[in-house]
Amino acid sequence: MLMGHIPEDELDSLTRSLLLPSPGRGVYARTALFEQVIEGLTTFISRHREPETQVLRFPPVMSRSELERSGYLHSFPHLLGGVSCLKGSEAKIRAVVEQPDWANELSATELVLSPAACYPVYPLAAGYGPIPASGLLFDVASDCFRHESTHEIGRFQSFRMREFVWLGTPGQVLEFRTRWMFLAQRLAKQLGLEHRVAPASDPFFGRGGRLVAMSQLEQSLKFELLVPLSSKEEPTACMSFNYHRDHFSSAWNLSTENGDKAHTGCVAFGLDRLALALFKTHGLDLGKWPTAVLENLSI
Ligand code: ATP
Ligand code: ZN
Ligand code: MG
Repeated sequence: MLMGHIPEDELDSLTRSLLLPSPGRGVYARTALFEQVIEGLTTFISRHREPETQVLRFPPVMSRSELERSGYLHSFPHLLGGVSCLKGSEAKIRAVVEQPDWANELSATELVLSPAACYPVYPLAAGYGPIPASGLLFDVASDCFRHESTHEIGRFQSFRMREFVWLGTPGQVLEFRTRWMFLAQRLAKQLGLEHRVAPASDPFFGRGGRLVAMSQLEQSLKFELLVPLSSKEEPTACMSFNYHRDHFSSAWNLSTENGDKAHTGCVAFGLDRLALALFKTHGLDLGKWPTAVLENLSI
């Protein structure tokens, strides 16, 4: 065991009581205990929603062409999962399902699995017309899928993401992100979570992707709130604070009322990771959690 690592069996027994494994790696059935804390977190986050926020809940799938137009395919093709179905006549489908390699006959539909909760917001907002001078703020959530290459604790293939998304001027977006970077640390403290905020980059694909990630770091476009989960040296990202500049507004022609290109940013909460971090910190018996933490979670 490395210094600072949390003993494997402690984490194992923790997750065994909360998440039941399935044959799919990084895919779990969640127990009532785990869900109780997820619900508490959801309510806690909602309590900090800013005024004039439009609330939208998305299904776990979204339009393939919209995700493509948002640039996801070229940046993160290794994480993407699509929805594929069997097509054709009744006779053809019946014959296909009799074959052991029937899955080779699956063909793509117009849907993909959402890799993050905010992707469907930008095309929706584009449909509203110019962004008002006061900006637009959304509260979104969805189940997300990522074809992750490792499955350590806290890295799921299917997980839940909650986000606040701002569309407006660069100044508004940066102010929103700074406000949330401070507020998020206060929230982590109120939940009794050991944490720190650090600059971060996204897992862009391939060699070219490493350059994009470096430039993202240089421009301070992404920060994460890190909480020790399986290791103290390499804590796990439980929230992220992202400034997209005009990436999404260029893809979707989003402009402000005075005709300037809009900028966007989002604050994302990894609900399953936050719940795991709470159990890791306070234990499996809710009755023994600090009263203030329980109150904050409305438990
Ligand atoms: P990581 O740094 O762990 O690879 P990320 O930087 O790709 O995560 P974001 O794209 O910023 O993550 O997603 C927002 C939040 O969603 C993360 O801060 C994290 O809490 C959560 N999240 C991301 N990927 C996963 C996953 N595979 N399993 C569980 N939660 C995740
Ligand atoms: Zn986002
Ligand atoms: Mg990260």
